[in-house]
Amino acid sequence: MLTNLTKPAAVAVGRFAPSPSGPLHFGSLLAAVGSYLFTKRQAGKWLLRIEDIDTPRVRHGADSAIMSALEQHGLLWDDEVIYQSSRTERYRDIFSQLQQQNLIYGCQCTRKQINAGGGVYQGTCANLDLKHITNATEPLSWRLRSAQVSCQFDDRLLGLQRIAPAMAQEDYIVLRRDGLFSYQLAVVADDWDQGITEVIRGADLLSMTPRQQHLFSLLGAKPPMYGHLPLAVTAPGHKLSKQNHATALSNWPASYTMARALAILGLHLPAELQRAAAPEQLAFALKHWQPADIPATLEVLAPDFG
Ligand code: GLU
Repeated sequence: MLTNLTKPAAVAVGRFAPSPSGPLHFGSLLAAVGSYLFTKRQAGKWLLRIEDIDTPRVRHGADSAIMSALEQHGLLWDDEVIYQSSRTERYRDIFSQLQQQNLIYGCQCTRKQINAGGGVYQGTCANLDLKHITNATEPLSWRLRSAQVSCQFDDRLLGLQRIAPAMAQEDYIVLRRDGLFSYQLAVVADDWDQGITEVIRGADLLSMTPRQQHLFSLLGAKPPMYGHLPLAVTAPGHKLSKQNHATALSNWPASYTMARALAILGLHLPAELQRAAAPEQLAFALKHWQPADIPATLEVLAPDFG
């Protein structure tokens, strides 16, 4: 009898996780192309997750606008699309698990108070045991005790990163005052449940990485590998916004925006492919691009879409 003793190769699983607060802008396109190439060159799976957890910021129809922009660029995802809004029960379970471990506490501080104290939360309510105050009139937010979060991590694209302790170890919110679970809790729950092995995303999320890795370990799970792509800016320190760049993006053919995104990721298309259909350009990149081509920088100037 023939037995196959070869272990199946581990499949890389990547993801693109846009928030549907507006259509796709160039910065998100860059993250999508980067994570797609990273995963697909290993013949991995590339998943799409719509991060609609922050319901007040969700714009009606933005999810379908994002999906059709991805399709126009040939960025076709695997499996079904996951919506965070359908996963509240799971987030609640995780919240309870953390609560049972006594890792969470109620907080009554307002954003205004925190900003007045320098903008980083100082643990003011950490020892107040606020959940027991029965006459509290204001709803509480819930924070995770984070003193154990590491201040450094090894970024797959940028190498060793050090995050300021005040930021890395800030007791961050896992359940908001308005009853919504936070991005921080949801993103870890989802990356875990979807079996994500590599998170490739914009450098604006770099400082959030140690806390996400730490939350994985609190839940008894292995964190994925994290790599951060240069963030597209209009001027140093100025992120693109959905308002000023999303509309502009849709005014240009996908081949133009794809060629610009690939160039930023370090792949310059040959002249004959500059105007080819975006999926064809992407297929070329899959054969010729490698992660080492990405410039190891935190910001890049976005092209002028005028
Ligand atoms: N939803 C986040 C955003 O659109 C991305 C989250 C992530 O990649 O971890 O900025």
